Amino acid sequence: MTAISSPEAWVDLHTHSTASDGTLTPAAVIDAAKAAGLAAIALTDHDTGNGLHEAADRAALVGLRFVPGIEISAEYPPPGTLHILGYFIDPDSPALEAMSRILLEGRNARNPRIIQRLNELGCAVSMDQVRAIAQRGTAASGAVVVGRPHIAQALVDAGCVATTKQAFDVYLGVGGAAYFDKERLTPRQAIDCIHRTGGLAVLAHPVQLRALNHAALGHIISNLKDIGLDGIEVWHSDHRPQDSELFMQLARRYRLIPTGGSDFHGHNKPGIDLGLAGGKVRVSMQVLEDLQERRRASEESISKHRGSCVGPARF
Ligand code: AMP
Ligand code: ZN
Ligand code: FE
Ligand code: FE
Repeated sequence: MTAISSPEAWVDLHTHSTASDGTLTPAAVIDAAKAAGLAAIALTDHDTGNGLHEAADRAALVGLRFVPGIEISAEYPPPGTLHILGYFIDPDSPALEAMSRILLEGRNARNPRIIQRLNELGCAVSMDQVRAIAQRGTAASGAVVVGRPHIAQALVDAGCVATTKQAFDVYLGVGGAAYFDKERLTPRQAIDCIHRTGGLAVLAHPVQLRALNHAALGHIISNLKDIGLDGIEVWHSDHRPQDSELFMQLARRYRLIPTGGSDFHGHNKPGIDLGLAGGKVRVSMQVLEDLQERRRASEESISKHRGSCVGPARF
């Protein structure tokens, strides 16, 4: 059964808050979505579900449909990146707790290495400063995910670089002078774990895979489908119209649900507007209806796999 939605109803299924590396609080993201005239929004912070209750409460208050989500980086050969979005995850599930703990350990091991290298290179930044930047605008006790955008801001504050873009280009991006990888889940673990939190797994911004050609891209997506991928982000701020067209073809070929969102981060990613997924592209409510329908259809298999995120390899 598909709910009838007005053709003017738009959604944004990819957003970040202060729970990770966005600059608006979860409640403020909801308010901004309401002000932008959106009908529904998903909050998809990196590695954590910590903002989901706040966002869900605010969404209920202001009358916005809300999808609890997450975004996870999985193992993938550089210079590409493979991010998986989780939708309809249960914020209180033991699987989410276990997954977040592992991912935060990976960050906590990496971040001080980056800081140490920056210090060796003559940039006077400290972990305390970076943590303070990550905590800005959040409740003092709130646990936040500390990411490279916070380190980039510390580099700007220290006068080491002029802009956060320069911080990534020179120091923090892949191949930068202070780049260190963090331990990640394999794609299979990430997808499996999202299913165990009750969610659907969607490949984020496939353009960032940096696949060499269409055949290589098709191969990667086919493999991800085989290990349980449910959807693919067709519309995204980094996608040109021809990219979205290609990803839509792949969605059809591999029977993946097409999704889309802005990847809004507040001022941490200037130029990205809530509700716009590349140029003036908007994402229809029908996309969320289709995703919700897939969620209902897979209810049985998902609930069979629910429970703790315990399995092979690192779990
Ligand atoms: P982390 O998860 O801590 O490794 O940081 C990843 C975040 O850094 C993502 O949200 C990206 O938005 C941001 N990021 C990665 N590469 C760049 C870049 N070259 N320029 C600006 N932001 C970037
Ligand atoms: Zn981010
Ligand atoms: Fe991402
Ligand atoms: Fe994102």
